[in-house]
Amino acid sequence: MAAKVRPLIAGNWKMNGLKSAALREAKKLATRMRKQSRPGCDVLLCPPSTLLAPLHMAIKGSRIALGGQDCHAAASGAHTGDISAEMLADAGCGYVIVGHSERRADHGESSGQVRAKALAAHRAGLRAIICVGETDGERKRGQTLTVVGKQLTDSLAKGCTARNTIVAYEPVWAIGTGLTPTVDDVAQVHAFIRARLRGRFQDQGLGMRLLYGGSVKASNAAELMAVENVNGALVGGASLTAGDFWPIVKTCI
Ligand code: PEP
Repeated sequence: MAAKVRPLIAGNWKMNGLKSAALREAKKLATRMRKQSRPGCDVLLCPPSTLLAPLHMAIKGSRIALGGQDCHAAASGAHTGDISAEMLADAGCGYVIVGHSERRADHGESSGQVRAKALAAHRAGLRAIICVGETDGERKRGQTLTVVGKQLTDSLAKGCTARNTIVAYEPVWAIGTGLTPTVDDVAQVHAFIRARLRGRFQDQGLGMRLLYGGSVKASNAAELMAVENVNGALVGGASLTAGDFWPIVKTCI
């Protein structure tokens, strides 16, 4: 039986956004959120690090949460260009995405490194959104569940709880392509992830939020969000403007 889990709609802005336009969109979203007396889901924006401070101010009092897109495993030190989980928390973040497929592909991040980053997030009091998902080749070879199962085993550490960990299933071939799996395929993978988490973390695994990510947009959000064990979405391109993001948020709010 699926547990009642509060949904999360998260926007991943990736390496997009300059201050004036980004602030305009964030403020529009914040205005809409402030009108919700009891929102039925959590809403999160993960802008590039340069926009964390201005967005923190722009969304104040709106209940929109702020998150980073990555963090280093260490709290501080000689790691030029990196940012620590503690720094994200200090900038007002409550969440951080780790193991996004673009980090795994562009920076060769292994699941072991993702696990260390998730542990760093927990150490800093952040919720870690841990991404998993198969490539197109893996899907075509029928390896989806094997790949996702291994990523889950290796990326999640002992100590993950329903509060500090969120898993995002993001088929790599669906990210930024306009392609999405069928709802049956999403249901199958999410049921598999839920069973794995329940087996390893018992009740905590039942309560962990499972997000679907990969070309979520206004036109497909409602049917994807209705799938069992889908507890929200991780949204890339369609999170960049309030006009595109708000209809997705509204499917859960
Ligand atoms: C993502 O980057 O996590 C993502 C799902 O992107 P998009 O929604 O653009 O496919």
